[in-house]
Amino acid sequence: MKIHNTLTGLREELVPGGVKKPSIADYPPVTIYSCGPTVYGHAHIGNFRTFMFNDLLRRYLKFAGYRVNHAMNITDVDDKTIAGSGREGVSLREYTERYTNIFFEDLKSLNIEPVEHYPRATESIDAMIDIMNRLGEKGIVYEKEGSLYFSIAKFGGYGGLSRLDTREIKSGLRYDTDEYEKDDVRDFALWKSTKDDEPSWDTPFGKGRPGWHIECSAMVRKIFGGTIDIHTGGVDLIFPHHENEIAQSEAAYGDRFVRCWIHCEHLLVEGSKMSKSKGNFYTLRDIMEKGHSPRAIRYLLFSAHYRKQLNFTFDGLHQADAALARIDNLLVRLGDVPAGSAGNTEIAPLIARFMEEFTSEMEDDLNVSGGLGKLFDFIHAVNAQINEGAVAREESDLVMNALRRIDAVLGVIFFPADEAASGDVARIEALIAERRDAKKAKNFGRADEIRALLEADGIILEDTKDGTRWKKRK
Ligand SMILES: [Zn+2]
Repeated sequence: MKIHNTLTGLREELVPGGVKKPSIADYPPVTIYSCGPTVYGHAHIGNFRTFMFNDLLRRYLKFAGYRVNHAMNITDVDDKTIAGSGREGVSLREYTERYTNIFFEDLKSLNIEPVEHYPRATESIDAMIDIMNRLGEKGIVYEKEGSLYFSIAKFGGYGGLSRLDTREIKSGLRYDTDEYEKDDVRDFALWKSTKDDEPSWDTPFGKGRPGWHIECSAMVRKIFGGTIDIHTGGVDLIFPHHENEIAQSEAAYGDRFVRCWIHCEHLLVEGSKMSKSKGNFYTLRDIMEKGHSPRAIRYLLFSAHYRKQLNFTFDGLHQADAALARIDNLLVRLGDVPAGSAGNTEIAPLIARFMEEFTSEMEDDLNVSGGLGKLFDFIHAVNAQINEGAVAREESDLVMNALRRIDAVLGVIFFPADEAASGDVARIEALIAERRDAKKAKNFGRADEIRALLEADGIILEDTKDGTRWKKRK
C-alpha cells in the first residue's frame, strides 16, 4: 500500500510500527489519528469530505488485511463552544454534548464506521499537563498574562511539514485565532488564561483552559503512547495546527510524532469555495432536506481522489444517483436468475480479475476513482453474462459475494436501509404477496407490473430461495 506523505512529499509504502514485516498479518495495528470536529454546530459537507476520506482509508486498510486502531478527537472546549453555550445560557457540557450527538447521527446517516476512540479535549487535561510540564523543564514555554506559550525560536525543527522555510513569515500577520499577546508572531498558546465566567481547569500553571493545538498532541500520547503511523486532516490544518502538534510533541517527548501525514483537499460547492455569504454553505442535513439521499451524498463525497479538490454539485448528486441505480439494477437482476448452475466457467476468473484490479487501484494512494471505474467495468461484464443467460444462482452468489467484499470498502452497495422510515411497510408486503401469487398463477405480466410499481416508489425486490426480500433505495 503506497500513500502520499505530506511530510516528505513522496508516495511511500505503509509500514505500520515502522519495521518492515514479511506479511500484512505480522504488522501491529495501524495507529491512526484524525482531527475531528469542534462541536459548536452542525458539521458542513466540507468537513464530511475529510471524515469520509478517513472512513475510506480505514475501511480499505481492513479490506487489505491490516488491523486498525483509530482515534478521532472531539474538540469540546474552545472560543466558539464557550461563546455558544454562553449565548444559550447552558453549561459547556450540555451544549457540546448536543452537537456531539448530532455529529454521531450524521456519521451514521453517511454510513461512516465508528472508530475505536473518540477522546474529548475536556477529558484529556491530564495529558496536556504532562506535555506542558515537560516543555517547561526544557525551557520551551513562557508565560504572559496568565497564558502559557510555546516558544518556536527554542525549538529547532519547526516548519518541516508545511515547508515554512520556503514561505515568508510576515510579522503582524495572525497565524492563530488566539487573541493573546506573545513574544513572536509564530508562537502559540498551550494554555489560556480564562475570564471569571469561562469554564476553567486547575493546573500547576494556574487556572485556565487548553489551547486548540495541544489537545491533539495530548490525545495522541494518551491513547497511543508514542509514535503513530498515520495522522490525517484537511489541508487547511497543515499550518499552523499540525506544525504546532509536531513541535509540542517532539519537543516534549523527543521521539518522532507521526510517520505519515495524510491531508485531504478542499471541497468546492458548484465551483467555488463554500461560504455563508455566497449562499453555498451546506450542512449534511441541508442537502438531505433538499431530498438527496445520504447514500448519494456518501458516494459523491468519496468518489474523487482525496488529493484533488472535489467540486460538490447538485448535478454531481444526480450522477451519483444514476451510478447507484446501475448497481441496484444489477442486484435486482442477480436476484432474478434461475436456481442451480449455468455451468459458466468465465465468472470466477472475471471476479478474480476485478478484485485484483480494484485492489491495485486502491493500493496506489487510494485511487478510488480508478477503483470505481473497475467496478463499473465489472458490472457491465456481469450484465452481459446475464443477457446471454449464462448466470444462474450459483454464479450470482459468487458475484454477490464479491460485491459484499468490495462494499466493505465503499459502503454504498448494501447501504443500511432504514425500514422504519420507508413508508407503508404493510402495503409493500401486501404487494409482494400479490406478486408471489401472480407468479404462482403464471400471471407474469401482473408480477412484473408490481415490481415496476414498487421500483417507482424506490423499493427494490430481491428474490431469494427463502422468498422475496425488499429494501428501499436510498
Ligand atoms: Zn488536531
